[in-house]
Amino acid sequence: MAAPNADGLQALLSTLQNSFETKIILSIINLLDELLSAGTDRRVHYLISKGGSEALLQAFVNTASSISPDYNVLLPLLHLLAKVGHRDRKVGEKAEKVGAVLLTLSLLKQNVEHARRAAACLWVLRVFCSSASAAALLGENQCLDAVFKLISPNATKNTRTVKAAVDAFAGLLRSKANGRRAAAKGYVSGLLRLYEDWHHREVDHTRVTICRALLHCLNQAINTSAANAALLADGGLGLLFRTTQACLDNEKLLPLVEPAVQLMRKCYPKSSIPITSEWSTHVFPLPSGSPMARNTVPETQDEDLEEDNEDDNESSNDHMLLRRMLVLILSGNNPNGHKSEEGAQETPTEVSSTLPPLLVSLGDRKDDDQEINLDKLRAQSEPDRPCDQLGQYARLCSELHHDFQDLDSRSERKASADGQDPVANGCNFEAEKCNIFRPESCLNEERTLRSLCVLQESQTPHEGSEKLCFLNEPPQASGFHGSCLRKHDMVAKLLEKYRTHPPHHSLYSVPHDSHIYTGAAATRTKSVAGYSVMAFPDYWGHLPPQIQEPMVVRQPNIQRKKIFEDIQRFICPDELINKIVFDLEDPSPQASDLSNSLQFFSGFESGNLRKAIRVRRNEYDLILNSDVNSSENHQWFYFEVSGMESAVCYRFNIINCEKANSQFNYGMQPVLFSVREALEGRPYWVRIGSEICYYRNHYCPFQGPRGSSYYTLTFSMIFKHSEDVCYLAYHYPYTYSALQNHLKILQESVDSRKIFFQQQTLCSTIGGNSCPVVTITACPTSHSWTHLHQLHNRPYVVLTARVHPGESNASWVMKGSLEFLCSDDPVAEALREIYIFKIIPMLNPDGVVNGSSRCALSGEDLNRQWKKPDPNLSPTIYHAKGLLSYLSSTGRSPLVFCDYHGHSRKKNVFLYGCSVKETLWYSGSVINTATLKEDTGYHTIAKVLSQLAPAFSLNSCSYVVEKSRESTARVVVWREMGVHRSYTMESTYNGCNQGIYKDMQLGTRELEEMGAHFCASLLSLRRNSVLCNAKLMHHATALLDLEVNPPDHSSQKSFEDDEPPCSETIEYCGNYYLKHSGDELDSEINDNVSSSEEEDEKDEEDDNDDDKEIDCLIRHCSVVNDNSCPEQNKGKTFPPPLPCNRNIEVAYTCMSDNSWTQLTSLLSRVYPILK
Ligand SMILES: [Zn+2]
Repeated sequence: MAAPNADGLQALLSTLQNSFETKIILSIINLLDELLSAGTDRRVHYLISKGGSEALLQAFVNTASSISPDYNVLLPLLHLLAKVGHRDRKVGEKAEKVGAVLLTLSLLKQNVEHARRAAACLWVLRVFCSSASAAALLGENQCLDAVFKLISPNATKNTRTVKAAVDAFAGLLRSKANGRRAAAKGYVSGLLRLYEDWHHREVDHTRVTICRALLHCLNQAINTSAANAALLADGGLGLLFRTTQACLDNEKLLPLVEPAVQLMRKCYPKSSIPITSEWSTHVFPLPSGSPMARNTVPETQDEDLEEDNEDDNESSNDHMLLRRMLVLILSGNNPNGHKSEEGAQETPTEVSSTLPPLLVSLGDRKDDDQEINLDKLRAQSEPDRPCDQLGQYARLCSELHHDFQDLDSRSERKASADGQDPVANGCNFEAEKCNIFRPESCLNEERTLRSLCVLQESQTPHEGSEKLCFLNEPPQASGFHGSCLRKHDMVAKLLEKYRTHPPHHSLYSVPHDSHIYTGAAATRTKSVAGYSVMAFPDYWGHLPPQIQEPMVVRQPNIQRKKIFEDIQRFICPDELINKIVFDLEDPSPQASDLSNSLQFFSGFESGNLRKAIRVRRNEYDLILNSDVNSSENHQWFYFEVSGMESAVCYRFNIINCEKANSQFNYGMQPVLFSVREALEGRPYWVRIGSEICYYRNHYCPFQGPRGSSYYTLTFSMIFKHSEDVCYLAYHYPYTYSALQNHLKILQESVDSRKIFFQQQTLCSTIGGNSCPVVTITACPTSHSWTHLHQLHNRPYVVLTARVHPGESNASWVMKGSLEFLCSDDPVAEALREIYIFKIIPMLNPDGVVNGSSRCALSGEDLNRQWKKPDPNLSPTIYHAKGLLSYLSSTGRSPLVFCDYHGHSRKKNVFLYGCSVKETLWYSGSVINTATLKEDTGYHTIAKVLSQLAPAFSLNSCSYVVEKSRESTARVVVWREMGVHRSYTMESTYNGCNQGIYKDMQLGTRELEEMGAHFCASLLSLRRNSVLCNAKLMHHATALLDLEVNPPDHSSQKSFEDDEPPCSETIEYCGNYYLKHSGDELDSEINDNVSSSEEEDEKDEEDDNDDDKEIDCLIRHCSVVNDNSCPEQNKGKTFPPPLPCNRNIEVAYTCMSDNSWTQLTSLLSRVYPILK
């Protein structure tokens, strides 16, 4: 049946609310019911929008207020009201307005013995309770008592009414006052007992349905702390635990398990993490005068976190978009672009002549927040510092000033030309003035000992080579505050034991000496805690994992199992050991409690375990340290563990994780490095762990939003060896010391006659570590003008990584890029000839050194500082931006900028870029984007990568510019430097769900390969420049022939998790039940229309008819206060004064004589009672 048109519907509704003819009302109700049940929810919402709820409510009030309500009308009316009201968020308020709330309650009170009518009233009451004030009003009028009585413990029939009563009770508990009332009156205990009682009954569908409803009711109740306390005091958690265990054995009862588990999680008492303060144990005094970043609540945390709430951002979005469009226009005319060199597809931005009307249309909107003055907009894009300060960065571009006079004669480049370059020194850079640049120490240092590590030939990741990575240099004179750290007996012992047979002997230029290890200090690296021991994997080196490891298949109900174990802690506290076995703040408790216990340690670079508590024999709670000068950001972890027994399963729980979800729920495993394995010739980080699960726990932060909780990452594992020292980490570690060694190895490996490889110091961090910047390009063939000219005209590519220290995967990708660019792969050779690469491989060395997840020593996220970086607090960002601004100011804005990141909640590798058009599309803007021309060249790299790099996923790429990302590298470089191809590259910590790596976790090799592929894809941007190179054509046809199609916009995705829902509920929240209730209610109502229960009740009903009528009259009479009588009833004997109520008046008027007689006779019976 088609929905009636608006006029027809409105006429219908108007008749409904004004008519008192039962036949008319009934037929309208039937008609509406038929209309609505035939269609979808849309019809109901349409009806609501046309005033359907109001009409039904009025009709209900009209009918129910009559002295003898006609239940043939009232019942269908209540049913329809429940169905419609359930979908009308405002029905409670509307009902209050017309007085329908208490009327329904009184109707219920009259019909407690009449199951069918009671059920209808209960549904309507439940629906009204969507308004907290309606729920509160009902609570004040003893509704809780009336409803609770209907949840009879012994009911065997009328179970539909019982269910309706439980649901209505749950509705009433939406009001916290009712929750307190329920707790005070013992109804919480009552509900628990009822649950227990229903739970023990014969298994049938009804039992499950009612039990579920009771669980929901309890779930609502414990939103009030009084009710939660009542539940716990009454042993509710234990009861729920026992009954739920019983459910596990009975398939029919399984539907109860999940709601019961969620309820238990919710009522589990909240507690603080067992530490004295969430603030990091490491405090770093910031430069004087700097504002301490404390007490700043981070808004959006990551490239991967959800979008900011967009509700009220509309106007500023428009403003932002307008700005972006103008930036685009301006950059399209930017004389500094690389127009001539970029090939056909790289045509600079054109702006259609239709743009002005668009601008006008935006400008027309009355909004003070919008800036439509072009000059002002331009001003906003101006550099954040005076232009004359940019000159200092010339020293970082010495390749432009170098005359290469020594090209033919030199046999070895003195690579450490930093600061000594004649040209660089010649320009007045102002480093000393602000004391930011500190002299590069590492490269000029005379080595007292030779490097322990040797790079095996120059191989590219392409060729599947294996390199032993990053062996640190043995210690030099330690410049450290020699904090006395735990001695590594076991490592020393192991080194001693294996001394005669060092693995990879040929790789080492000096024999191993255990003393080097035990006394080792990460010499040049400055840590806040003054680490003097280096982690064994950094010292020894490690190889890429031997095999690609598949993602683990999640075991069914693993979360449930873990939560049961957690709940047992509360129920049986006596079974717990609860001994602190490691504490950064207080090392003393260790000695006495360590027998048979695992031992923990994290006092080394990138380590960050704060505390370990042995909970049960083989179960440990671990607490991560916050980022330095911060009270949060726990995600990355890295620690050492020893004292293990082989063949024993240990459970580890990291209990203060913060993100709402994690790839640990989708097949990802942590990584482990075993010293024993390394010494036996298998120096690999391996993925490890079973029963892995990530879920919200009952610990809450000392501060932070109310109701916020931490998350637990739990995993179990069996150690292979008993006498071993192992390292566990979130992901393959890559420390700052590793980077320094890697750069040194790389520098030594390149042929300096062919490759210009220069490592310089961008600046010093506030922690005193130098931030390296590397330049890679091809040396000119000669120092002739032509060759030098060609060099000077190469566009720049700027790559950065590791601004977020916990994202070690970004460093592995960067390592791949660096090695590829220094390799003799023909593509790499071509890239060096057509580009100059400026690479800042670690934007946040301090964060990496100190084991932070997200921030710098300032306690700030450096990737939110790009708009206005503070030179004292965020020097690396200040100078990275300075370098980019310098390039831009000299007409050398990079062709490509890319910042490498890691993504904790998605699979694959993908790019975020910037596009005005796509931002407009996805903002739902009404602006016709067809009229806006935009250079689509920003798609090229992603397109090429999707065909080149197995881990890359085009579908996950996005080019939407979000307000919350305004101060990230990607957006600032795009907007302020006019770099069209400005990207964030996100790499998963886990693996892929597509391509040849599908269902595999990525190892370091695959990450490095990704870095190589990213560079290779850059070739496609300048194919015209390389077409003449025959050798290259042979090797790189695939790269150069790739079709660059117009963008496929269907690929756009939001920033949310793209995982399918987990089989288990990851989060718990109040609306766990909501998804069930809509259709359930409809079907219950439909059953009530023609029910067998009803027939059972017939006899009873007939018997009681008189009483019901009397009740009804009593109700009316109780509010009577007027004795006016209609004209046409003159002569009839009137009952006692009746209300001045139009409805009753009319009811009287319309009564047949027969009814009248009945009424008067009834009233005469009632009257004495009233008296
Ligand atoms: Zn990041």
